[in-house]
Amino acid sequence: MKKIFLSMSFCVALFASCGGNANHDVVKTDKTVVSQAKSKQENKTRTIHVYFFGDFPSNLGSQMIKELRKVYSSVHFEGRISLPDSAYYVPRNRYLAAKLLNTMMTLQLNNDMVLGMTTKDISLKYKEHENWGVMGLSYLNKRAAVISTYRLRIPSKRTEHLRKLMLHELGHVEGLPHCKAEHCIMHDAEGQNRFSQLDDFCSSCKAVFKSKGWDMN
Ligand SMILES: [Zn+2]
Ligand SMILES: [Zn+2]
Repeated sequence: MKKIFLSMSFCVALFASCGGNANHDVVKTDKTVVSQAKSKQENKTRTIHVYFFGDFPSNLGSQMIKELRKVYSSVHFEGRISLPDSAYYVPRNRYLAAKLLNTMMTLQLNNDMVLGMTTKDISLKYKEHENWGVMGLSYLNKRAAVISTYRLRIPSKRTEHLRKLMLHELGHVEGLPHCKAEHCIMHDAEGQNRFSQLDDFCSSCKAVFKSKGWDMN
């Protein structure tokens, strides 16, 4: 039987932190939902199906797809989907990331991966925080990830940072946990926005990507 649970101690706090500050608007983290069940088809190359939520900018989305195709052979753009009303969190004008993932999982077939992009603020329940703003959410070793541009607030760096966020979340989808190597894109930055310092994947993370069919030099 497959069991999925929210991990509170694993894979948290990417690119941000609360730093003791109660202002959740500056709190950023990512989080994964962990599956204990290993994918039976994990060694088979899977297609990444990309969706834009709502009015996600076409230019930026196309750039991300182009970046993905540089490192992965099977990427399909599937079109736009509406942000589900059921995911809207009225008190903070945000969308619940887990519900966006659920929406994408309904579109998922054949053990492929689904990736959703949004400009909206996304959040989840995290530890004592009822609603915690995040940049991305993914299922570890499973099939779905959602990323948001909302917290990428340096316009000149937005594309670069979104690319790294996208690859980080897809790394989780491919089974990679956070990495101890400081400059690795899978590194958990524990409270800091370190997108600029995260250069590339380390050799061990690359090896995992390569074993899953990714073209990482
Ligand atoms: Zn992470
Ligand atoms: Zn690494």
